[in-house]
Order: sequence, then C-alpha cells, then structure tokens
Amino acid sequence: MESAADKLESVRANIARMCKPARRKPEDVTLIAVSKTHPAECITPLLEAGHRVFGENRVQEAAGKWPRLREEYRDVELHLIGQLQSNKAEEAVELFDYIHSLDRPSLLKALAKAMEKTGRRVPCFVQVNIGDEEQKGGCPIAEVPQFLEKVRGADIPVAGLMCLPPSDIEAAPFFAFLAKLAKDNGVEGLSMGMSGDYETAVQLGATHVRVGTALFGTRG
Ligand SMILES: *Cc1c(COP(=O)(O)O)cnc(C)c1O
Repeated sequence: MESAADKLESVRANIARMCKPARRKPEDVTLIAVSKTHPAECITPLLEAGHRVFGENRVQEAAGKWPRLREEYRDVELHLIGQLQSNKAEEAVELFDYIHSLDRPSLLKALAKAMEKTGRRVPCFVQVNIGDEEQKGGCPIAEVPQFLEKVRGADIPVAGLMCLPPSDIEAAPFFAFLAKLAKDNGVEGLSMGMSGDYETAVQLGATHVRVGTALFGTRG
C-alpha cells in the first residue's frame, strides 16, 4: 500500500511536472491537503512527512481536530475551504489562517466584525459561482468587481479568487475564466483544482490547489 508520504510525493511531482511547460515555479503553487472527514491519526503521517498546509470545510470539525494537532505541529497553516455561515465567522477567524469562501455581503460584514474584535486579519479568497449554478455558493460573476471593492473597503486582505466548477464537465474553461477574472481585477491568488483536476488547474495558473482524495483516499 502507498503510504501518505508516497502519495504526497506523487502529488507534488505532478504539480512540478505541470509547472514546467507553463513556465511556473512549483513553489508558487500551495498544496492544501484537504483533511475533512479524516481523523487526526490519518493526518499525522502527512505532518510527519513535513506537510504543513491543510484544508477543512467545516468550522466545527476543524475545531475538534486541529487545536490539539497544533500543539505538536505549531507551524500548521489551516485553510477553510467550505461554506461559512455568518454566525460562525468569529470562530472561523480564530481558527483559520485563510478563508476561501467569502461570497456575499452578509458574510463580509460578519468577517469584518470578527476581525475587528479578535485583531486577526485573515486573508480571504472571494468564491466565484463560476458555473452560474443555483445550488452553489459563490459571488455571481457580474458582481465580482463591486464585491472585491467592498472587501478591500472593509480592510479584509484579498488572497485571491476561488472556484468550484460544475462537476461532470471539463473544468479547464472555468479555470481559465477564473484566471482572467482575477487578472482583470488585479487579484493574484487563484484557489482552484481538486484531486481530479489539480494538474489542469496548475497549468492554468492555480496558486492554491485543494487536494483531498488523492492524498487521503476516498472519504467514508
Ligand atoms: C472536499 C473539497 C476539496 C477536495 O476534494 P477532493 O476531490 O477530495 O480532492 C476541494 N475543495 C473543496 C471546496 C472541497 O469541499
């Protein structure tokens, strides 16, 4: 069986391989190991292999796992990649180093207030509803410029744009479109690509890929 360290090495190698033709540097791509649903004992091998950047999609679950792991591995960088309810904004700001799901004015307000109160300025990615899907979160494409202005106006550091393209359809055009949106709006970071498509995302400029299954195996 492939160990966690082996899987980590192969994902890293794939990222490096895709960087080359795109004339990008592997160190400019942050690999976020998405550990949602996986218990601490599955995460420890990756920490032992030296990995430090992790993603979770629920505040509650992360609050249950990470404070203890962080006592031992103090330089962990934790990313919130899932939908965030406004009433959990303060807890999220205390726990996470980056938030990838800022997508609406009500959440912006809650996050600004939480950052004011805690004194922590957590960089946020603005999530874009890139496939215009009703059931998905994300700021509508047409509203991205104004929303980014609001985020900057609230003194929240903009880390970049994030997307979760429609499933069952080629992701590349959506990644390319997100990259263009970022460029047009003077935004540097691009959080895009998961286990099935992170290589494509890297070719198209992803600065942050969110990889779960390829590192931890399938979720129960
Ligand atoms: C779960 C999740 C991922 C990781 O998905 P895998 O296919 O397991 O790599 C990435 N991004 C978001 C927003 C997720 O919820």
